[in-house]
Amino acid sequence: MAKILVTGGAGYIGSHTCVELLTAGHDVVVIDNLSNSSAASLSRAEQLTQKKLSFIEGDIRDATVLDQLFQEHSIDAVIHFAGLKAVGESQQIPLRYFDNNIGGTICLIRAMQRAGVFKLVFSSSATVYDESNASPLNEDMPTGMPSNNYGYTKLIVEQMLEKLAAADDQWSIALLRYFNPVGAHKSGRIGEDPNGIPNNLMPYLTQVAVGRRQKLSIFGNDYDTPDGTGVRDYIHVVDLANAHLCALNHRLKTQGCRAWNIGTGNGISVKQIRDNFEKVNGVEIPFEYVPRREGDVATSFADNARAIAELGWQPQYGLADMLADSWNWQKQNPNGFNES
Ligand code: NAD
Ligand code: UDP
Repeated sequence: MAKILVTGGAGYIGSHTCVELLTAGHDVVVIDNLSNSSAASLSRAEQLTQKKLSFIEGDIRDATVLDQLFQEHSIDAVIHFAGLKAVGESQQIPLRYFDNNIGGTICLIRAMQRAGVFKLVFSSSATVYDESNASPLNEDMPTGMPSNNYGYTKLIVEQMLEKLAAADDQWSIALLRYFNPVGAHKSGRIGEDPNGIPNNLMPYLTQVAVGRRQKLSIFGNDYDTPDGTGVRDYIHVVDLANAHLCALNHRLKTQGCRAWNIGTGNGISVKQIRDNFEKVNGVEIPFEYVPRREGDVATSFADNARAIAELGWQPQYGLADMLADSWNWQKQNPNGFNES
């Protein structure tokens, strides 16, 4: 068993990963500045697992806090989720994204180096692939210039980490390229709780279902896809969380820097998501078609063969689980972690 530092562990994917790490018997230390999350997610992760984790409320850009953390805890590896992810905001305030996502990662890897910790799993994204690649996307396909500043920070950090590992073979780094994480823990106790109006499809849809929003806007029905709406690869957040444990096991034994796609390999359209949500959950989802959203591609889904072959990972959950679990979380927590 290992002692794992989870940056951004109070967030959506981080809190689900903490549950899986604790369940597997690992010791967990979380650093999170709570800029986009609530510490309630961590106490619920503890309740669900009947285990304790250590939580430091702090910023990964604070070298003093990181040095102290590495001194107090003998960390074996780091899973690095901390970052900002709002695409629209990244266009309006690029520097905030460069500072937090790129600057924050540099500060973190410097502190890791000082502490002699060289195992890292990084949250990357399918957005790093060049838009001209046809799906299924595989890891040998070229990356390109992402259409927004958020995606740009992911690409830069990936490239930085590759160069770091090439220069110093002590490093062992996993770049996990997530497709579209959705769903929630089966208990409905933790889940996605975005600030303000959700940018992403699933939290918007569940907020329509729970009556917080009137109707879903489907961005474009004139794409070159079977029903004209955008096609994506939705992956259950618990499967995604488990991919981190598999990557960790792999990286504890090997050196270098390598990318893995984390998706199911199935392309599902927005209209299919909406229709199946109604069917699986028995709730009505009013919707309208509106023009395409700038920067969206028609189709993006993964070739996940590399992760299956090399990480020993296998997604367990299908679309019906993703839709039922997203709804279960939202229904039980209509206002997210803000219970008032
Ligand atoms: P999230 O916002 O729920 O979690 C990120 C966490 O990081 C939050 O708890 C936030 O408070 C914390 N944080 C941000 N900046 C910090 C800093 N400087 N210091 C300490 N803590 C900080 O987001 P998520 O959906 O759980 O995503 C986790 C990671 O996965 C992010 O890096 C994100 O870019 C990446 N990712 C997410 C998706 C997605 O669709 N959710 C897709 C691809 C990649
Ligand atoms: N989408 C939509 N309405 C929304 C949010 C998203 O139609 O309110 C569509 C979007 O155009 C894309 C898909 O849903 O085809 C997934 O979008 P999301 O923002 O969740 O993830 P992305 O693939 O952009 O990272």
